[in-house]
Amino acid sequence: MSDAVDELRKAVPDGRVLTDPDLMAAYRRDETPTVSPGQPRCVLLAGRTSDVAAALAWAQRHRVPVVPRGGGTSLAGGATATDGCLVLSTARLTAIRELDPANETVVAEAGVLTADVDRAAAAHGLMYAPDPSSLEISTIGGNLATNAGGLRCVKYGVTRDSVLGLEVVLPGGRVLRTGRRTVKGVTGYDLTGLFVGSEGTLGVITSATLRLRPRPARYPSTLAAGFPSFGAAARAVAAILAARLRPSLLELMDSVTLRAIEEWQNTGFGADVQALLIAQDDGEQPDLGVARMRDVCLREGASMAEVSGSEAESRQLLELRRLSYPALDRLGATLTEDVCVPRTRLPEMVARVEQAARRHGVLVATVAHAGDGNLHPLFVFDRGLPDVPPQVWAAADEIFRAALELGGTLTGEHGVGIIKRRWLGTELGPEAMAVHHAIKNALDPDGIMNPGKVL
Ligand SMILES: Cc1cc2nc3c(=O)[nH]c(=O)nc-3n(C[C@H](O)[C@H](O)[C@H](O)COP(=O)(O)OP(=O)(O)OC[C@H]3O[C@@H](n4cnc5c(N)ncnc54)[C@H](O)[C@@H]3O)c2cc1C
Repeated sequence: MSDAVDELRKAVPDGRVLTDPDLMAAYRRDETPTVSPGQPRCVLLAGRTSDVAAALAWAQRHRVPVVPRGGGTSLAGGATATDGCLVLSTARLTAIRELDPANETVVAEAGVLTADVDRAAAAHGLMYAPDPSSLEISTIGGNLATNAGGLRCVKYGVTRDSVLGLEVVLPGGRVLRTGRRTVKGVTGYDLTGLFVGSEGTLGVITSATLRLRPRPARYPSTLAAGFPSFGAAARAVAAILAARLRPSLLELMDSVTLRAIEEWQNTGFGADVQALLIAQDDGEQPDLGVARMRDVCLREGASMAEVSGSEAESRQLLELRRLSYPALDRLGATLTEDVCVPRTRLPEMVARVEQAARRHGVLVATVAHAGDGNLHPLFVFDRGLPDVPPQVWAAADEIFRAALELGGTLTGEHGVGIIKRRWLGTELGPEAMAVHHAIKNALDPDGIMNPGKVL
C-alpha cells in the first residue's frame, strides 16, 4: 500500500501528504466526543482544486475510502476518520477568488472560515448571513456539506439560502460546476441543492458562489428576558412569532445551561431566572422591534426583561450564548442533539425533553435556536465511561420520536453523520431512502465517499 501512497505523493505538490501517525492525529477526530475515530492511511492537505481531483482519481483507482474534512467541528461524527481512509482536508483552500459588491456575491474556496467571509463582505457594507456558533473555527466547505444553521437563521435562513453555485470534485476526479451567479435561474436539476447537506458522501466541495446581503446600519438592538421556567420562555417565543414580529435572532437557554455558565463566569442571574431568552432586531426600526418583544415577554410572565444600553452590552449577552457549549463541557462528557419542530410546537417539545430527562434519570441541558423551533438537548454524563450510557440513548431516542411525532425532524442543522444514522429510515421512510441510495450509487458507485456516514 505504501507504493500507492507514493503515487499520491507524486500527484500533488511536496509536503501535502501526511503519513506520520503523530501528524495525522489532529485529523482523526471531530468535535463529537462519543464517536471513536479510526486510523487513516494518509491525510492530504489540499491546496488547490487540482490536488482534490488528483486525490479522488487516486482513491478510485485504489478503492481507498475518502473522508472530506474542513474545520473538524462536526457534532455528528461526520468528519471522523475511518480505518485505512484518506482524510482529505480542504482547510488550506483559503482564497476568496472574487467579491462582487454590485451583484452582492462572493466566490470563496472551501477552507475559508465562515467569519472570514463575513469580514470580507463587511469591508463593502455587506454581510454573509449564515452564522453558526462555530463561525470562527468552521469552514465554508463544512457549512455547505452540513447545510449549517446559526443564530440569524430565524430571519435569513440556513446556508442553503445563501448559496448560488458550487465547484465540486466528483469521485474519480471530474470537476463539476453547479448553479450560477444570478439571483434567479432554473436551468436543469438543482444540483447545488443536492450537494448542500450531502455531508461529504457525494463529492468534495472546493469552492462556492455565495450570496451576500446589505449589512444593517448599526449593531442590532438586543433584549434579554428571564423566565421562571423553560416552558414559559418557549410560550413567549411562540407569542413573539404569532405577533408577526421579525427578530433577527431568538435564542433560548434553560436553567441547567444558565447555572453551568453562572458557576464559571459569575453572571449574576437570580433564582427567578430559570430560562433566558435573547432576542435581536436588526431591521429598519430595531428599538421598536425589541420594545415590542419585551412587551410580549412581560405579558407571558417574564421575571425580568431588559434592553441592552450599548453594543458592548449586547455583545456580552451573545457571548453568554456562545459560552453554553464550553460551560456544559466542564460538567462532563456531552452528547449534543439537534431536533427541530414547527415553531408553534416548541412549548410541547420543551415539555417532552423535560419528561424524557426525568423518566430516564439523565442530566439534559437545552439551548435552542428558538425562533427556528431548533433545540439542542445536551446530555451530560460521566467522562470516565467507555460508551454513551444506555439511559442516555434511551432518552435521546424518546426525544427523536417526540420530534417526529410533533411534525419535526431529527436534525435541524448538525447533520446525520454517524450518530443519527440509525434513525434516518424512521424519518425518511422507504421511498425516500431508496432515492437516497439511487443517488449515492449514481455518483459514487464504489461507495468510497465518507462511508458509514448518513446512509
Ligand atoms: C462550539 C460549536 C458550535 C457549533 N454551533 C453550530 C451552529 O450554531 N449551527 C450549526 O449548524 N452547527 C454548529 N456546530 C457544528 C459544526 O460547526 C457545523 O456542522 C459546521 O458546518 C462544520 O464545519 P467544518 O468546516 O468544521 O466541517 P467538518 O466538521 O470538518 O465536516 C463536517 C461534514 O462536512 C463534510 N465536509 C467538510 N468539508 C467538506 C468539503 N469541502 N466537501 C465536502 N464535504 C465536506 C465532512 O465530511 C463532514 O461530513 C457547532 C460546533 C461546535 C464545536
